[in-house]
Amino acid sequence: MQLVRPNIAGLHPYSTAREEYTGELGTLLDANENPFGQGGLNRYPTAALREQLRVRVAQMKQLPPDSLFLGNGSDEAIDLCFRIFCRPGVDNAVMISPTYGMYQVAADVNDVARREVLLDAQFGLPTDQLLAAADDCTRLMFICSPNNPTANAFRPDVLADIAGRFHGVLVVDEAYVDFSDKGSVISYLADHHNIIVLQTLSKAYGLAGLRVGLAVAHPDIIRLFNNVKYPYNIGTDTLQTALRMLDDSDVLSQVQLIRSERDRLSAQLTGLPGVVRVYPSDANFLLVRFEHPGSVYRRLLEAGIIVRDRSHVAGCDGCLRITVGTPEENQQLISILQQ
Ligand SMILES: *Cc1c(COP(=O)(O)O)cnc(C)c1O
Repeated sequence: MQLVRPNIAGLHPYSTAREEYTGELGTLLDANENPFGQGGLNRYPTAALREQLRVRVAQMKQLPPDSLFLGNGSDEAIDLCFRIFCRPGVDNAVMISPTYGMYQVAADVNDVARREVLLDAQFGLPTDQLLAAADDCTRLMFICSPNNPTANAFRPDVLADIAGRFHGVLVVDEAYVDFSDKGSVISYLADHHNIIVLQTLSKAYGLAGLRVGLAVAHPDIIRLFNNVKYPYNIGTDTLQTALRMLDDSDVLSQVQLIRSERDRLSAQLTGLPGVVRVYPSDANFLLVRFEHPGSVYRRLLEAGIIVRDRSHVAGCDGCLRITVGTPEENQQLISILQQ
């Protein structure tokens, strides 16, 4: 692919002796591990265990395993996008604003210029402006859908249309897709090989502490991700726990409950004095504009409730971002705001 940095396209990835040999392994004297450890954690994570989780997640998402990358959170995948496609100090990335802060951090770390395009007043996608912001050195475009912090999702067919008109790689961050009715852009991947979809086990799957994120893309792109990642980016404990948790997970019913709580919370907030606007949400959080966001924020803090102050973010003036909690937590929030 022409868009890949030349040093990455020609990279000889790190390889381990155990990966090179496919037969039965008995005595392991190749990796300088301590032979006396217990629980298997004295050994480096095996490729087989990593592959087992990849196959399990692929099955769950109804995808071929070779179109899936597993990272140390989707934050790792975001950083890898820059490292694979953007020449530091030369290339640039287009992104919407406001959006998830990690794209900016990863761009800055990798010395990649950012071109930010403001969403419209209703947080709609300025499609033509996004495409117009791209030049010959634009390698990536980041669109978060449902978007953090605005909570709205964009139509997958519109995203696919952008990919079709864009000469770089479109990264669609779907961290909150399980809470949305608008669906995933994954179904457009077969026709658009320049789309990378990011998802995660951190939100709907309830495993933020584990650190497992996914990238879904054409197998040629996934191969690049696997070549550039650290050899053992996901630990044995994490892989095993993820496999176990996915087997007895209750995601669907939890997502249902969170969605109904979201809608209930949204309706209750809408009637409160001091609330200017509750934005529609396709995610597990609400963006709420208050008359006096600073005092609401402090009042909640005093009551031991922490929300995210987004009131100084472009397009979000006066807004706090509130995660949907348990029914009890949401009730607590409402009763404090009622006072
Ligand atoms: C929370 C979040 C993530 C998740 O990142 P992980 O590293 O997978 O925990 C990714 N993208 C967005 C937009 C988020 O809000």
